[in-house]
Amino acid sequence: RAKDTGKSRCVVYSPEKFNQPEHDLSLEAAMFEAIRNGEFLLHYQPVINAQTREIVGFEALMRWMHPELGLVSPMQFIPMAENNGLINLLGAWALKSACAQTKYFCEAAGRPLHISVNVSPRQFRNEQFLDIVDDAIALSGLDSKLLVLEITEGILMSDPEHAEGLLHKISSRGVQIAIDDFGTGYSSLAYLKKFPITSLKIDRAFIKDLPSSVKDDAICNVILSLAKHLNLSTVAEGVESEEQFEFLARHNCDLIQGYYSGRPQRPEEALALLKPAAVAAA
Ligand code: C2E
Ligand code: MG
Ligand code: MG
Ligand code: MG
Repeated sequence: RAKDTGKSRCVVYSPEKFNQPEHDLSLEAAMFEAIRNGEFLLHYQPVINAQTREIVGFEALMRWMHPELGLVSPMQFIPMAENNGLINLLGAWALKSACAQTKYFCEAAGRPLHISVNVSPRQFRNEQFLDIVDDAIALSGLDSKLLVLEITEGILMSDPEHAEGLLHKISSRGVQIAIDDFGTGYSSLAYLKKFPITSLKIDRAFIKDLPSSVKDDAICNVILSLAKHLNLSTVAEGVESEEQFEFLARHNCDLIQGYYSGRPQRPEEALALLKPAAVAAA
């Protein structure tokens, strides 16, 4: 640490290292600029009904189109944005943009489609969060029942009292609440009773080895049956194969999301998926 090297020395990081685009510090500095330049966008991954295979909605997934690096993964920039606070700005934009886009999808498709938006811990703690949700709904004109906020188990466990109050306010708007990556966190069953949750998203970790893994089969079955008994809707994440789909459909998983239902894609491409019949008939 700089402090340990004495007063007379100032530690200078090598400029080469600092300038490397993959170096986090320079990537982080670039984020501020990127927001101003409109380099962030949302991709939409289709979610299908496991019985009818019809698209019933999308999950909005954030992307950063960096001028030199190309698409930067949210796994890289969301943790940074969470650290430096930019997630509040990015998250508010994502909510408003996803709601407005989905209102348009619904009008174009002539039927209701839901939209899932991820909420990070720092956004959830932000005292303006409820206003941001209300604004996103009011500005877009989207039916609030079509909005699903995805939160993680960690968010519920870190401050259960705050979570309980806020989730009740959110659900009083009609907005749905999904537990993302279910099974990978604390998995305390107490919160399923305590909080107004509407759905569970089974993490890809339990899906990827279906149906050959006896343990994962058992875990998925237990989650699906637990959800059914609690009247929660179920979504399987990261479904890639026909075999996985068949297994989940047979075990009454409600919704399927993964490369099987479609890749996360640009809004124009997502929209085209909703209207093939109309195009063919025209
Ligand atoms: P998540 O919410 O659990 O999203 C699912 C991730 O799995 C996405 O990664 C998606 O592209 C990927 N995925 C979907 N289907 C498949 C599949 O069949 N196979 C495999 N291998 N992967 C699949 P992505 O887009 O890289 O996002 C990673 C994470 O970043 C998300 O995990 C979410 O936690 C976070 N994130 C993304 N967008 C936002 C956002 O707008 N706000 C916040 N706060 N977090 C976001
Ligand atoms: Mg998610
Ligand atoms: Mg997930
Ligand atoms: Mg996941």
